[in-house]
Amino acid sequence: MSLHTAQHLLSSVIDSSLQAPTLTWSLTPWPSPAYIDLPRPLTAAEIGDVQDQVNRHVFEGRRVHVQVDDLQAGQAGVDRGTGDIAPSSRELGRGLPRDYSGGVHRMVIIDGVDRTPCCGTHLPSLSTLQLFLFPSPTASSSTSFRHYFLAGPRLLNHLATTQALLTRTAGLLSCGPPETPERVALVVDESKRRDRRVEDLERELAGVLGRQLAEEMAQWRSAGGAGGSGSDLGEWVRCVSRTDDAQSTRAFLHAVTLAFEAHLPRSKQPNVTPRFTLLLVSSPPSQTSSSTTIVMLFGAEEKRVKGVGDELKKQFKTLKGGGKETRWSGKFVGVWSTDREGNTASTLLSQGT
Ligand SMILES: [Zn+2]
Repeated sequence: MSLHTAQHLLSSVIDSSLQAPTLTWSLTPWPSPAYIDLPRPLTAAEIGDVQDQVNRHVFEGRRVHVQVDDLQAGQAGVDRGTGDIAPSSRELGRGLPRDYSGGVHRMVIIDGVDRTPCCGTHLPSLSTLQLFLFPSPTASSSTSFRHYFLAGPRLLNHLATTQALLTRTAGLLSCGPPETPERVALVVDESKRRDRRVEDLERELAGVLGRQLAEEMAQWRSAGGAGGSGSDLGEWVRCVSRTDDAQSTRAFLHAVTLAFEAHLPRSKQPNVTPRFTLLLVSSPPSQTSSSTTIVMLFGAEEKRVKGVGDELKKQFKTLKGGGKETRWSGKFVGVWSTDREGNTASTLLSQGT
């Protein structure tokens, strides 16, 4: 009821001072703001001016009353409510349905401000209808521009809600409400910088881990390896388990395999490829039945990598994954314990195929 009266007042003031007729409007359900659609967006200055004018009428406590006249023969109109109404047709008979046959013409009058035909219920006075028109109209279509507004109890509710949100945000940032925007900007800025730094450090760490693993393999080979025949020293296998809370675990493990690959010792005999299969596992620090552990395989031979991947899937029912060439990766759902699942995977890896 109060928003309907506020809408009459707002539409009337905008129409008479800016010649911008209300095309459509909606009172929307509590507690969202109601809106009017105008043929053009209002500028910030216009919005300020409209708000001043409207609230002046409110503070004057203008009376609202209904005048009922007998409908003259041939008089009809169109409803001014939600729907597509061209400005010209709205002017003809706003608020009165085209098929109206009640025999009376009901006019809602805001003293000295507005007269609009309307069948709705209205407040007897504007005195409680302090109105707020939102400053940033958003284009709803190329021909109409939505302007949200609040008045009366809904405006107070909005103030209380917004104030609570602002107080909570300011509390989280340990500052006063006026400093909140600057503080948020600072936090966002710091967070971006931190993200970049984490990326740099992750790249560096992946490089170190990859190199260490390659060195480990080189040492194993120079110490005789698995004692294969001739130039074949057997297959080097290694299972590395990590605990990591990051969102980008897969990318990180992939970076480790790339660094490992880059540091592989160059074989002196061109036909001999050093055989290896590397299994990298990364789990979050605290796990539940819905936790995700990332499993990644990287090896010298595509067939072997695929074989280990298939075996892992057979072994762990909640592991899904697949591979391309010499890389394979999968997602395990549930609790991955290094002593249980980790050991099983390690054993499986060292069995060879
Ligand atoms: Zn009305």
